[in-house]
Amino acid sequence: MDARFDTEVCVVGGGPAGASLALRLARLGHSVCLMERHAFPRPHVGESLAPGVWPLLDMLGVAEEVRRASFLPAHEALVRWEDGTGRSVRSREPGLLVDRGRFDALLLGAARDAGVRVLQPAAAHRPERLDVGWRVPVVLSGGRRLQVSARFLADASGRGTWLGGRKEPVSARTVALHGYWRGERPHGPETRVEAGPDAWYWGAHLPDGTFSAMAFVDPELLRERGVTRRTLESFYLELLASSGLLGAWTSPRLVGSVLVSDATCYRDAVPIERDCIKVGEASFSIDPLSSSGVQKALQTALSGAVAVHTLLVRPDNASAALRFYTEDQRESVARHAAWAAGYYAEHRTYRDRPFWKCRAQASPTLGGLETRPPPLEGEALLHRRWRLDREVALVDTPCIVGDLIELRRALSHPRLGRPVAWLDGVELAPLVEGLRDGLTMPQLADTWGREVPFRRGVAILGWLYRQGLLAEVGANEMR
Ligand SMILES: Cc1cc2nc3c(=O)[nH]c(=O)nc-3n(C[C@H](O)[C@H](O)[C@H](O)COP(=O)(O)OP(=O)(O)OC[C@H]3O[C@@H](n4cnc5c(N)ncnc54)[C@H](O)[C@@H]3O)c2cc1C
Repeated sequence: MDARFDTEVCVVGGGPAGASLALRLARLGHSVCLMERHAFPRPHVGESLAPGVWPLLDMLGVAEEVRRASFLPAHEALVRWEDGTGRSVRSREPGLLVDRGRFDALLLGAARDAGVRVLQPAAAHRPERLDVGWRVPVVLSGGRRLQVSARFLADASGRGTWLGGRKEPVSARTVALHGYWRGERPHGPETRVEAGPDAWYWGAHLPDGTFSAMAFVDPELLRERGVTRRTLESFYLELLASSGLLGAWTSPRLVGSVLVSDATCYRDAVPIERDCIKVGEASFSIDPLSSSGVQKALQTALSGAVAVHTLLVRPDNASAALRFYTEDQRESVARHAAWAAGYYAEHRTYRDRPFWKCRAQASPTLGGLETRPPPLEGEALLHRRWRLDREVALVDTPCIVGDLIELRRALSHPRLGRPVAWLDGVELAPLVEGLRDGLTMPQLADTWGREVPFRRGVAILGWLYRQGLLAEVGANEMR
């Protein structure tokens, strides 16, 4: 008979999303078991981490360890995108180029230290839903079998469909052809991003001294050109030859074989239910163009942990928790798709070719989110009379309050991507009621005097103005 054991939460997948979710839930006092089918360190694409990972790594308590891990800082990118000319893009805070094997192992180690029971290598098979909770069959190394019973299940298995469900594509179909290189006199340390007629290219030096070079293409191109396993490498080399990725090198040589990965963006139709959640790429995937897949995986894990904690300890708030996580996923997907389509639309040289045309149009528009009122001089802002735009409403919205999700009154408006309850730690609903009538900025900030310091009040008013939520009181209205 298979060995059995019980846990409160069972997490499947030990990548960034699974390890972070497990770690947070363990710190919130839950008993957590995580299973990862590969022994670590194991290779994984996604080595370029956007600067936005730092605050998340801080929250997880691993930022210092990551700083000490001798990964490479990524300060600068050479971008040849709009036309043939290149430009250098420097970020104020550096991102990171990591060895994903070591990075993922570091996060999983932190989860283990926080009390997570890690089974590895351990492959989770299709789970069985019980009246209450789940039973997960697991195969350990050497073929040993185990049955794990859990009250709550988290699918952090990445791009696969371990828990089933419907993945809806949200971009044109894309595959990445990638390989690792070594060579003599390679170019500088900058990351490279480049546009070609039917592809875009990405290249970066990695901590182990190799250079990762990728070409992103439509899978239709592989079919049209009759590319097979046997001819994949020569097709990849042909693509790279039309880019500048390896141009400055003498005798570059490929290390290992050329790989193909699906890079199509999608979202899962139901990312959370009362007894299960999908985090990281099990919930949605974004265009690698932004290099922020790992950042998104960490974000979904952190907001997912609060949603799961709420479902487990505050069942009365269950519908708020489900709404919060579902809306968060939808908004992230829509915002990212709009950003990516805008970025593809900036390319000019080959803009009439199908690869660029369909990617530039794939944007689900966010209803004029980007139209902002014109900047106003300080004096004009201070002395004119303002009131709240008539389309502003206060609505009950699920928000993170401490470690739980609760309904709070929040400002909603067609220009806002989602309702906003707090700004810089200040709850907006009690303040904006005073804005229903026309007042000048100093008068308004004065009426908020008991709630917020004057300067903070003026900053909030400035934010309301920039979002287009304030309307100037016309002469007729003032009489
Ligand atoms: C071509 C390409 C380039 C990319 N480049 C970047 C980049 O530069 N920067 C960036 O931030 N992101 C990038 N990404 C995205 C990034 O790789 C992912 O967003 C990130 O890895 C998602 O993390 P995750 O934890 O959700 O999934 P994963 O990292 O895929 O982890 C899932 C884990 O689950 C395990 N697993 C799966 N099934 C089971 C099972 N049944 N039982 C047990 N374990 C299981 C797997 O072994 C794996 O370790 C790229 C993606 C692609 C396709």
